[in-house]
Amino acid sequence: MDKKYGVYICTGCGIVKTHPCLCGKEGVEFLKKEIADEGVNTLVIAACSRRVNFDVFRFDGCIVDRVNLREQVVWSHPRTKYPAPTEEQKDDETFIDHVQMMAEDYVKMGMAKVEKIDLPEPYQLENFSRKILVIGGGITGVSAAIEAAKVGYEVTIVEKEGTLGGYASKIRKQMPVEDPYENLISPVIDGKIKELDAYPNISVKTGAVVARIAGQPGDFTVTFKKPGDKIEFDVPFPVPPEKKVDENGKELDADQIYEIYLEMNKGRQDILALDPNGESFGAVILAAGWRPADITGEEYAHLGIDESSDVVTNHQFEEIAAKGKIIRPSDGKEAKSVVFIQSPGKGEDDADFDYCGAVTSLVSLKQAKYVCEDYDDGKSYIFYQHMRTPGLQENFYKSIQQTDGIFLTKGEVCNVSKSDDGLVVEADNTLLGEKIKVKADMVVLAAGMVPATADDPVVNLAYRQGPAFRDIGLFNGYSDSNFICFPYETQRTGIYAAGAVRRSMTIEESMEDATGAALKAIQCLESTNRGVSVHPRSGDMTFPDFFFQRCTQCKRCTEECPFGALDDDEKGTPKLNPTRCRRCGTCMGACPERIINFADYNIDSIGSMVKAIGVPSEDDYDEPPLRILALVCENDAYPALDILGMNRLQYSANVRVIPVRCLGSVNVIWIKDALAQGLDGIFLLGCKHGDDYQCHFIKGSELAEIRMQKIGDALSSLALESERVQMFEVAIDEYDKLPNMIDSFVEEIEGLGPNPFKGF
Ligand code: SF4
Ligand code: SF4
Repeated sequence: MDKKYGVYICTGCGIVKTHPCLCGKEGVEFLKKEIADEGVNTLVIAACSRRVNFDVFRFDGCIVDRVNLREQVVWSHPRTKYPAPTEEQKDDETFIDHVQMMAEDYVKMGMAKVEKIDLPEPYQLENFSRKILVIGGGITGVSAAIEAAKVGYEVTIVEKEGTLGGYASKIRKQMPVEDPYENLISPVIDGKIKELDAYPNISVKTGAVVARIAGQPGDFTVTFKKPGDKIEFDVPFPVPPEKKVDENGKELDADQIYEIYLEMNKGRQDILALDPNGESFGAVILAAGWRPADITGEEYAHLGIDESSDVVTNHQFEEIAAKGKIIRPSDGKEAKSVVFIQSPGKGEDDADFDYCGAVTSLVSLKQAKYVCEDYDDGKSYIFYQHMRTPGLQENFYKSIQQTDGIFLTKGEVCNVSKSDDGLVVEADNTLLGEKIKVKADMVVLAAGMVPATADDPVVNLAYRQGPAFRDIGLFNGYSDSNFICFPYETQRTGIYAAGAVRRSMTIEESMEDATGAALKAIQCLESTNRGVSVHPRSGDMTFPDFFFQRCTQCKRCTEECPFGALDDDEKGTPKLNPTRCRRCGTCMGACPERIINFADYNIDSIGSMVKAIGVPSEDDYDEPPLRILALVCENDAYPALDILGMNRLQYSANVRVIPVRCLGSVNVIWIKDALAQGLDGIFLLGCKHGDDYQCHFIKGSELAEIRMQKIGDALSSLALESERVQMFEVAIDEYDKLPNMIDSFVEEIEGLGPNPFKGF
C-alpha cells in the first residue's frame, strides 16, 4: 500500500500535529478527518499505552502504531527526578534532558516501525467445517456436547465404550452440589444422557476411537476406528524412542528424547496423508477422562494390596458400593469396619499417592458415609496426610466430622496385615499422638486420577511434531497448556481439554469445565472462519510469511514451534498450517536466515526500531548517558511496566523498551545489531519458565534463554562482556520488582563502562 504518514501527539512540542485529548470524542473525530481529508493511512499516535483505548484508535484500512509516552515516559520518569532545562540551560547543547530524549526516541522508533510494516490480510480456509468433535462420552463429553448443541452447533461424540456415561455412570452417589453442601445426591449422568437425546444436532459414535486427526482448525479430517483395530489411516509415526540414556549412560531429559523423536520424523510424508473418507470437523473438545492410578508394587507392599483382596482402591470400592450393600470381596461378608488410607505413609509429610488431590479426599469422605448408610453400626476410619476440601465442600467435610461412626485423623499408615477375621491397620503420628491399631473388614486406598493423555496420544494427530501433546516434563500427562491464564487450551490449536484430562476434578467441576471448553471450541470456529487468530492473540490477522528462496531447510522453525503448526512438504521445506498457528513468532526468532516475518511484526520492523534509538556519543556530551535496549514480552512483562507507570514507580531513563510478541520471537540479529550500533546493554524481560512456568507460548522464554546463552558465548569471543546481554523473568503482578531489576542491570552496565564498539 502507498503510505501517507501522520504523527499525532496527545499534547506536545508543536513539531508534529498535537491534540489535547486524542482519545476523546473530538480527538477521534480529528483523526478521522485527517484520514478522510488528508489521505493519512499510516498513523503514529504518541499518547497512552497501546494496552488502553485500543478500540478507540482502530481505523479500518489504516496502519496504527501507538507510542507509549504516558506510562513508559512521563509517569515513570518524573520531572522531579529528571528536570527539564531551566531558561538558562535551554541553549546549552550539552544539557541532558533525559525525559525529552526518551520521548523523542520513542516517537522515532514508532515512525521507523510503521515504515516497515503492512496491513495484515486475514487467512481464509477453502474448506471450513463448523462441526465440533467431542472425544469421550463421560459426564464431561456429554455436558460439552449439550452446551455446544444448545447454541446451534453440530456435534459428534466419540466414545470408546459401548455406551455413554463413563465413570460417572458407575458410581453410587455424587458429592453435594448445592447448599448446604452436606448431602450426597444421586448421579446426574442418566439425566444428562436423556437430555442429550433431545438434540438432533448431536450424533454419537460408541465403540469407536480416533485413529487420526489431520489438517488444522476449521478443517480437520478425522478418521475413526474400533478400539484396538489396525487400519491404513492409523497415524504412521515411529514409536517414541526407547533410548532413555546417552552414550555415557546419562539419562536423557524430556527435551532430548523429543529431539530424537523429531529426527525420526524428518522427511516423512506419510505424516501428512489425508483420509479421503475421513469426516470433517472444525474444532475438537478433548474429554477423554481418566483412569485410576496403579498403586500396586513394591512401593506399596506394606499396604497389603497384593496380599488381600479386601484391600481395594477407591475406584473398586465405588464399584462394590454401586452394586448394593458394601461386602468384602474375599468372602462376601458385610464390611462394617472400613479404613480409608489417603497416603502411603512413608514418614514424609508430603508423600501422597500419585495424582491424588482434592477429589480423592472428597471421595474418601463420600465413601466413608456409604459404610454408615449401609450399616447402623458401621465404622469408617480415614487416615490422611492432607485433607483437601476446597470451597463449599468444607461444609461437607464438617458434616462428615459430625457423622457418628466416622473417625478422621492425620496419620502415617505403617502397615496393613491380615488377621484371623479381616485386616489390621497400624498408623503412627496420628492427631492423638500415639500409635493406633484398627481392625478392619476392608481397606480402601486412595488411587489418584491419571489423565487419559498420560500414556495414550488419544488425539492421534497427523502432525510433524507427533501424535500427542508434547510432554515437556511440566504437565504430568495433563493436556492443558497454560493452566494459569488459558485453561482449556492445549498445545494444539483447535483442541480444547475439559474435565479430568486437564486436572483431577469432581463431576460438578467437570460439567462446568465442559461449558468452558465448548465456548473455546466455538470461539475457535468463529475466529478461524473470520481468518483471525484464536488465542492468546485473539483477533490477530497476521501469520508467518516465509521467503522460501533462502530457506536452508534447517527445520529449526518446524521443531521449535510450540504448537506444531509447521509440517514439511515433499522437499523437506517447512509447510505452515495457518490456523494451527498462534502467531507467537517463535519461528521468526528461531530462523537463522531471518526469512520468517509477519505483516506487522518482522525482523526489519524491530531492527529499524533498534536503529532509531539515539546513541549519545562523546562528540556531543562530556559524559554521554548509556543506552540500554529492553525487549519486553507483551504478555506479562509489558503490562507490568505499564502498571509500574500507573503506580508512578520509576526506573532508569537510559532504557528504551520495544515490545515483542514473546521472548521466543527474539531473533539474535536484533541483539547483534544493537551491540554493533553501540547500545551498552540489552535485557530481555519475559514470563517465568521452568516448573512454575507462565510463558503464554509454552517454551518461548525458555528458548530465549538458550539463545541468550549462545549470544553470551559469542560476545565473549568478541571480547565483550557477556553480562551486557541478560534475561529477566517477571510475573504481571511483580511490577514493583521491576525498578530494582532494571536499575540494578543499568548499574551493572555502568560498572562495565560504555560499549567499546560505540562510535565504530
Ligand atoms: S508463529 Fe508461533 S505458532 Fe505460528 S508457526 Fe511460528 S512458532 Fe508456530
Ligand atoms: S528456520 Fe528458516 S531456514 Fe530453517 S527451515 Fe525454517 S524457514 Fe528455513
